[in-house]
Amino acid sequence: MQIRLATTTLLLASTLVMACGQAEPQQPPAGAGATAFEGARVIVGDGSDPIENATIIVRDGRIEQVGAGVAVPEGATRVSLAGKTVMPGIVDAHVHLRSQMRDQLVEDLQRRAYYGVVAAQSMGQDQGDVPYQVRTESTTMPNAARFQTAGRGITMPEPGRTEVPIWVSTEAEARAAVQDNAKRKVDIIKIWVDDRDNKFKKLTPELYGAIIDEAHKNGLRVTAHIFELEDAKGLLKAGLDAFAHGVRDRDIDEEFVAMYKARPEVILVPNLPGRGVKTDLSWVSETVPAGEVEKLQAANAKDDPEAQKAFGIQARNLAKLNSLGVKIAMGTDGNTPYGPHVEMADMVAAGMTPHQVIVAATRNSAEVMKLTDLGTVAAGKSADFVVLDANPLDDITNTRRINAVYIRGAAVDRAALRTRFSGQATE
Ligand SMILES: [Zn+2]
Repeated sequence: MQIRLATTTLLLASTLVMACGQAEPQQPPAGAGATAFEGARVIVGDGSDPIENATIIVRDGRIEQVGAGVAVPEGATRVSLAGKTVMPGIVDAHVHLRSQMRDQLVEDLQRRAYYGVVAAQSMGQDQGDVPYQVRTESTTMPNAARFQTAGRGITMPEPGRTEVPIWVSTEAEARAAVQDNAKRKVDIIKIWVDDRDNKFKKLTPELYGAIIDEAHKNGLRVTAHIFELEDAKGLLKAGLDAFAHGVRDRDIDEEFVAMYKARPEVILVPNLPGRGVKTDLSWVSETVPAGEVEKLQAANAKDDPEAQKAFGIQARNLAKLNSLGVKIAMGTDGNTPYGPHVEMADMVAAGMTPHQVIVAATRNSAEVMKLTDLGTVAAGKSADFVVLDANPLDDITNTRRINAVYIRGAAVDRAALRTRFSGQATE
């Protein structure tokens, strides 16, 4: 009994001490737990002028403040980025990762993070549960890009090609295919409208019309793989939301331009083909083993007039739509983790300015993926950004001169990834 009383007294006493302590102004300093990145030029990603000598305050994985002359709160960790340029994390709105096996998917996302790509959208060749599980995991997974998926894309039957997409031949099948994907909670509906050099029938206006209608009823947007101008027109008429490629068979005409002007909300992911010119890819040797770099270099060692012609059509089409103010995003269509850096240079070669291309590859691509917390270096956004040793507004290939990549405020462990991927690990 006595012991109990003593304990109670002690408890009361300590509660009183704590209460008194709380009354005193002894909060931790305002900057505790925050990081201040100081001195960099910041390319915001919305097309506004870069901020020189900026300070970025990051807390709990989010950007709290960005600007020149932002005061660093007491107690914040300070990181000097003097002489560097910061741009938003790159978003690749059109990829196809290796497989449906978790480890490979995760590695593909890590390879992207190494190159400053903080989100990637898989376009229609995902089946089973694993891609959806990885999508969820990727929102918190360190050293990896965020993942989204179009699930199983929709096409007319293409015997001999991949059977992962859903093949449809009737309107009922088309609507059912959308509903299947909607149940899976895909991020976007992908369709292919392409006869693959006259080998197959392509989706008819009746079928893609039904797909777009059903998708919209289910709150989903539709993006289309296209090749021909006529299909691009039909799809615009049918209410398409985004193009996963530019028009590839010919130069666009005034009718298409007028149609596009009437639907300015439709986003174009141009997805340019190779330029067909001699290209130096030695810069990828940080993650690509030497033997493979040699092969890549050999494949890009000389000019290819046919490829140049194909690039020319798409480049002119892109330049024209860009000059009209069409909203352009960025996608690479494949599984090349460093591909966005090549694509961005191709987009500049097509006639966009480096600044326009950076906006396309960050804010606009995040918009395609509806990732409202990515795409710009701005207060309230996730702290996903790339630190560069040189200014990409001067030369777009400076996006390759990566000093550091931050995802949700944490530095990607590029040294560890480089060791793993370059095949130089001593085990
Ligand atoms: Zn694709």
